[in-house]
Amino acid sequence: MTEAVTAPFAVVERTDLVPRCPHCDESLPAVYARARGVPLGQGRTLMYFCPNCLKVLGFAQGRMI
Ligand SMILES: [Zn+2]
Repeated sequence: MTEAVTAPFAVVERTDLVPRCPHCDESLPAVYARARGVPLGQGRTLMYFCPNCLKVLGFAQGRMI
Protein backbone atom coordinates (compact mmCIF):
# COMPACT_ATOMS: atom_id res chain seq x y z
CA MET A 1 0.00 0.00 0.00
CA THR A 2 1.37 3.40 -0.96
CA GLU A 3 0.85 6.50 1.07
CA ALA A 4 0.48 9.82 -0.72
CA VAL A 5 2.99 12.46 0.24
CA THR A 6 1.74 16.02 0.13
CA ALA A 7 4.31 18.75 -0.37
CA PRO A 8 3.47 22.16 1.06
CA PHE A 9 2.09 24.70 -1.39
CA ALA A 10 1.25 28.32 -0.74
CA VAL A 11 -0.69 30.93 -2.70
CA VAL A 12 0.22 34.49 -1.82
CA GLU A 13 -2.23 37.15 -2.92
CA ARG A 14 -0.44 40.19 -4.33
CA THR A 15 -2.88 42.88 -5.28
CA ASP A 16 -0.02 45.38 -5.58
CA LEU A 17 1.47 43.64 -8.65
CA VAL A 18 0.14 43.65 -12.22
CA PRO A 19 0.64 40.38 -14.15
CA ARG A 20 2.19 40.40 -17.62
CA CYS A 21 1.20 38.45 -20.71
CA PRO A 22 3.72 35.65 -21.42
CA HIS A 23 3.22 36.17 -25.17
CA CYS A 24 3.49 39.91 -25.79
CA ASP A 25 4.99 40.99 -22.43
CA GLU A 26 2.35 43.69 -21.92
CA SER A 27 1.02 44.28 -18.42
CA LEU A 28 -2.46 42.89 -17.83
CA PRO A 29 -4.66 45.13 -15.71
CA ALA A 30 -7.53 43.11 -17.24
CA VAL A 31 -8.02 39.90 -19.21
CA TYR A 32 -10.77 39.00 -21.64
CA ALA A 33 -12.85 35.87 -21.24
CA ARG A 34 -15.13 33.83 -23.45
CA ALA A 35 -17.44 31.16 -22.10
CA ARG A 36 -18.69 28.00 -23.69
CA GLY A 37 -21.43 25.78 -22.32
CA VAL A 38 -24.65 26.16 -20.44
CA PRO A 39 -24.38 27.98 -17.10
CA LEU A 40 -26.90 25.65 -15.49
CA GLY A 41 -26.42 21.92 -15.60
CA GLN A 42 -23.12 20.59 -16.83
CA GLY A 43 -21.11 23.68 -16.00
CA ARG A 44 -19.18 25.78 -18.46
CA THR A 45 -15.68 26.29 -19.73
CA LEU A 46 -14.10 29.72 -19.62
CA MET A 47 -11.24 30.74 -21.89
CA TYR A 48 -9.11 33.69 -20.83
CA PHE A 49 -7.10 35.67 -23.36
CA CYS A 50 -4.89 38.73 -23.53
CA PRO A 51 -6.69 41.95 -24.59
CA ASN A 52 -3.53 43.10 -26.36
CA CYS A 53 -2.37 40.14 -28.48
CA LEU A 54 -5.54 37.98 -28.10
CA LYS A 55 -3.52 34.88 -27.31
CA VAL A 56 -5.06 32.41 -24.88
CA LEU A 57 -3.74 32.62 -21.33
CA GLY A 58 -5.65 29.74 -19.79
CA PHE A 59 -8.86 27.86 -19.20
CA ALA A 60 -11.13 27.41 -16.23
CA GLN A 61 -14.05 25.13 -15.62
CA GLY A 62 -16.82 25.82 -13.20
CA ARG A 63 -20.48 26.13 -12.57
CA MET A 64 -21.86 29.62 -12.62
CA ILE A 65 -25.36 30.94 -12.23
ZN1 LIG B 1 -0.49 39.38 -24.88
